[in-house]
Amino acid sequence: MPMENLIIIGSGPAAHTAAIYAGRAKLNPLIFEGLVAAGVAAGGQLTTTTEVENYPGFPKGILGPELMERMRDQSIKCGARIETVTVDKIDLKEKLFKVFCGSQVTKTKTIIIATGATAKRMFVPGENRLWQKGISACAVCDGALPIFRNKILVVVGGGDSAVEESTFLTKYASKVILLVRRDTLRASKTMQERLFSNKKIEVIWNTVLTEVVGEKSLTSLKVKNVKTNQESILEANGLFYAIGHLPNTAFLDGQLTLDETGYIKTTPGSTKTSIEGVFACGDVQDKIYRQAITSAGSGCMAALDAERYLHHA
Ligand code: FAD
Ligand code: NDP
Repeated sequence: MPMENLIIIGSGPAAHTAAIYAGRAKLNPLIFEGLVAAGVAAGGQLTTTTEVENYPGFPKGILGPELMERMRDQSIKCGARIETVTVDKIDLKEKLFKVFCGSQVTKTKTIIIATGATAKRMFVPGENRLWQKGISACAVCDGALPIFRNKILVVVGGGDSAVEESTFLTKYASKVILLVRRDTLRASKTMQERLFSNKKIEVIWNTVLTEVVGEKSLTSLKVKNVKTNQESILEANGLFYAIGHLPNTAFLDGQLTLDETGYIKTTPGSTKTSIEGVFACGDVQDKIYRQAITSAGSGCMAALDAERYLHHA
């Protein structure tokens, strides 16, 4: 059975920053980057977006997939090895941990978990039948498809993603409706300004989606005003969820302490988890900041924590 110093699980900014630091520290890290793990391409959430304008060092902005490609290249240059496989489970019972990818089992002294988070869906009646036939959880990936051109498109959510995706979809749609379940948005003020200045976007407040309608593809939505309980039909040929994310922690099978919503609990001020030698960084342990730069920052911390642990082990 192969034996490693450090296995990094994941492929977003957290995983690659950890790999860059661990590689430079001569820890010879091995990354399992995932093969469309949790429904997202290797490279993580930024592969599903267009322009990233808030990552330091890119004053003109950079495309999300390009930023991740660069991070991957830098990991390799710094000495990381990368395998495009998904980790199915890990066994943390013994001092030498085991990592399982299909029939491949690898032993390792330390693990950094950087598996991020995945877009949530609502699973309203009709959704499974019409999934990918007018319904998507990634406007940036699917918005340009012909079925959405010059059509009325609806985005559900109220955070930065919902605003970003609504704005993005105006490039293709005849009109975009943002369905918000409260009377206020969670999105940052700058994003809100962008939203309200876009004439192609209509915001419908205090309204929730209850059902999707259509035979071969989406034709309308049933919605309900939560203040008045009044139900109505919205004509729409596209529905895009932007309602947040679920941390990718199922493969841990309860071996690490998680919070009530499934995020890995880490000791404040470090990336230590409930098991010595296992560290967590990025969105999988952060439901507050959830940014590329904060993920990268905690990836750096995880590599330094792992290095210290290996030094004293
Ligand atoms: P993620 O990016 O979530 O990547 C983790 C990846 O690990 C997964 O996607 C998967 O490929 C892999 N993985 C998962 N499970 C396994 C497994 N079992 N085995 C192997 N591999 C696995 N932030 C910004 O700062 N600026 C922005 O402009 C910005 N725009 C965004 C736009 C969108 C549409 C979204 C959804 C997010 C955006 N964010 C932005 C947030 C940012 O993308 C995340 O905070 C960041 O990507 C989190 O990085 P991460 O390293 O924790 O993991
Ligand atoms: P958030 O968790 O921030 O927001 C989710 C939104 O969806 C909330 O407004 C929530 O409503 C709403 N919602 C949740 N469930 C439902 C439901 N069942 N029905 C209707 N609405 C629902 O997620 P985001 O994906 O927007 O953002 C995640 C992180 O990524 C954030 O940190 C964000 O800042 C970052 N990001 C940054 C970007 C940028 O800087 N350019 C772009 C995109 C994301 P409620 O408010 O009522 O809870």
